[in-house]
Amino acid sequence: MKVQTKAIALMSGGLDSTLAAKVVRDQGVEVVGLHLVSPFGCREEVKKSADAIGIRLLFKEKGAAYLDLVENPRFGYGKNLNPCIDCRIFMFQLADVVRQEEKADFIVTGEVLGQRPMSQQRHSMELIDRNSPTTGIILRPLSAQCFPPTIPEEKGWVNRDELFKISGRGRRPQMELAETLGLKDYSAPGGGCLLTETAFSSRLKDFFDHPTHQDETERLTQSEMLRLGRHFRLHPNLKVIIGRNQEENMALEKLWPKSGGTFLSPFNFDGPVAVSFGEASQVDFEQIGKIIARYGKSQSLAEKKIQLKCGSENTNFHVLEPVTDAYLESVRL
Ligand code: SF4
Repeated sequence: MKVQTKAIALMSGGLDSTLAAKVVRDQGVEVVGLHLVSPFGCREEVKKSADAIGIRLLFKEKGAAYLDLVENPRFGYGKNLNPCIDCRIFMFQLADVVRQEEKADFIVTGEVLGQRPMSQQRHSMELIDRNSPTTGIILRPLSAQCFPPTIPEEKGWVNRDELFKISGRGRRPQMELAETLGLKDYSAPGGGCLLTETAFSSRLKDFFDHPTHQDETERLTQSEMLRLGRHFRLHPNLKVIIGRNQEENMALEKLWPKSGGTFLSPFNFDGPVAVSFGEASQVDFEQIGKIIARYGKSQSLAEKKIQLKCGSENTNFHVLEPVTDAYLESVRL
């Protein structure tokens, strides 16, 4: 016999989802956190948030289906390539699968009415609910009193009187609630989604417009690389990513073997690594070598050597001079 009500709380790592999960947990509900991992990168703080409120945390990949959705959203985009309505429906679908696996009763989210322009307006929240398999079992504790009671409230699994009526774009009510609940060191409010950023969206659009992958693994790996490095489109069939620091160089080198790209690195000087995608001639590779040289440290070295790795083949070639900054600006994504 089931003895305790159980909920799955969608956790982004931000303050609102942490508060929502804690409010429900503090009512005696067993709460399991769920972080849906985007192909574009994971938010590190989410583990810290779950630990701070003492709940177990599950991770689930959004995967290739999410890329399909972002490329062709049924309900369109927000200001950038953020398909928020489709994204929420997708997240609720995944959360409902986990809810059933975990034999949980309902789903908790940190959504606040009016907080975000596309997905958190009343009409869009109703549209999302109508198109999700979770009608009636999505509880939004921070704004619950702005909406009719949900099943968890009607059944008495949670006490509606102890839920909240927060709405609008301001952050003060959430910060005050965090203080009341003893939550400290939470990450910056809002934000966190790369799809809402103009620069990232333009890289993503270029990625959709110029596919070079042979299979889903390459497609997912390339999408993961979108947040790394400087991106340049040298011509319609050739893109190159250049690492901006040691951490990115290491990440690019680690991802490269599954990406379908070609790996280039400095051989006799310090500088960034590069991964290129598409069709490249020897002249193109030399141009990429000159870009590496431009960002490299040994400007005085007369003959810089670049190592090129394509599949299991390794070759070296020389580069005499770096590209100009004007050239870089003309090809930068
Ligand atoms: S902001 Fe990003 S993660 Fe949030 S609903 Fe929109 S697309 Fe999805």
